[in-house]
Amino acid sequence: MGFVKGLKCRECGAPYPKEPLHVCSFCFGPLEVDYDYEGIKKVLTRKLIESRGKTMWRYQELLPVDGEPTVGAQVGFTPLVKANNLARVLGVKELYVKNDSVNYPTFSFKDRVVSTALTKAKEFGYKTVGCATTGNLGNAVAAQAVQACLESYIIMPADLEQGKIVGTLIYGTNVIKIRGNYDNVNKLCSEIADKYGWAIVNVNLRPYYGEGSKTYGYEILEQLGWKAPKHIVVPMAGGSLITKIEKAIKEFVKLGLIDEADTKLHGAQASGSAPITTAVKQETDVIKPVKPKTIAQSIAIGNPADGYYSVKSINVSGGWAEDVTDDELVEGIKLLARTEGIFTETAGGVTVAVTKKLIEQGKIPRDESIVISVTGNGLKTQEAVLDKLEVPRIINPSLSEFDAIMDEKMAVAQKR
Ligand SMILES: *Cc1c(COP(=O)(O)O)cnc(C)c1O
Ligand SMILES: [Zn+2]
Repeated sequence: MGFVKGLKCRECGAPYPKEPLHVCSFCFGPLEVDYDYEGIKKVLTRKLIESRGKTMWRYQELLPVDGEPTVGAQVGFTPLVKANNLARVLGVKELYVKNDSVNYPTFSFKDRVVSTALTKAKEFGYKTVGCATTGNLGNAVAAQAVQACLESYIIMPADLEQGKIVGTLIYGTNVIKIRGNYDNVNKLCSEIADKYGWAIVNVNLRPYYGEGSKTYGYEILEQLGWKAPKHIVVPMAGGSLITKIEKAIKEFVKLGLIDEADTKLHGAQASGSAPITTAVKQETDVIKPVKPKTIAQSIAIGNPADGYYSVKSINVSGGWAEDVTDDELVEGIKLLARTEGIFTETAGGVTVAVTKKLIEQGKIPRDESIVISVTGNGLKTQEAVLDKLEVPRIINPSLSEFDAIMDEKMAVAQKR
């Protein structure tokens, strides 16, 4: 093991050692992990990957840890579902859902980044970890910190959904709610990381954390039979995941694990928090921060850390970006549930609704393969749909009362 050469500035290329650093001291560019791809190419084959356990760690040479994973060794390898029913409704030929709503252990793709970051935090010798979160990251850090015997602090906006709060508190972590939005929380966390010397996974461990997202991309490619799809639609918050899917595809091509790929990456946001899709649609790479106002709280980031790079990933790939209203995202959640039996959270509703929009606009041709990224679980954001569903009838435990309901249903069906 050990194909990590060090860190490298994404802008000026300045090299840095494998340490908990995240910003270039020359140009303030973000640091990224620098791998020895020649060395990896000599050992990593499809056969070796396929011989390993069905987790994200089957690609461990491409993850920034020195030894075996010590946290979250069971995370990943979620289903890639061939979504024929949804394909029929959307009028497309070949559609898949990459379903991280069932990721282990906390039902979102954030388990991947946390497994990577906390393994790294242990290697660095940290005793306390934490994060700034829009919900899912807090769930994942709290749960996996327990596994790792690390103390954790989860800092979140005060108004998150109940499922996200309970799904963090249950692990006995320290939760601090902030009067403010995610962008306020994030800034505070930078100050906390500096002052207390903790590993804040998405601040001072960000270069390592982000690499975990690549496995979401690797799995799509492997599960398609070592092939890249024509289109992947990705929800964007800080904009990290979409850039890491791009990186995953490029690495697999470079290593000869797949042939040339020409995958268009499409970004999805909620209209109430759409700084990245707005930039793409206005054909600029300058991100104008916004004050988020949407029920899609897990992706409500007004000043996205990787905004600039996500615009670049989209443009270089030839993809596009769209955003949808809260009503449209609720319809997206219902559509996926009622065609594929998958209950996703608000972010997934955004992605489904944006996919529909891009197909209708002709940005995604109907005869090309499409992957929809479902990144989180609907049981955590029940508020979004609770009053949008049929209210069930209540009867006594009596067959005649049940018969009366059936008679009503028959009458309605006959009238149609
Ligand atoms: C965090 C999150 C995203 C987006 O993450 P970024 O990498 O910050 O763009 C998407 N979906 C869900 C459910 C999330 O929790
Ligand atoms: Zn630099």
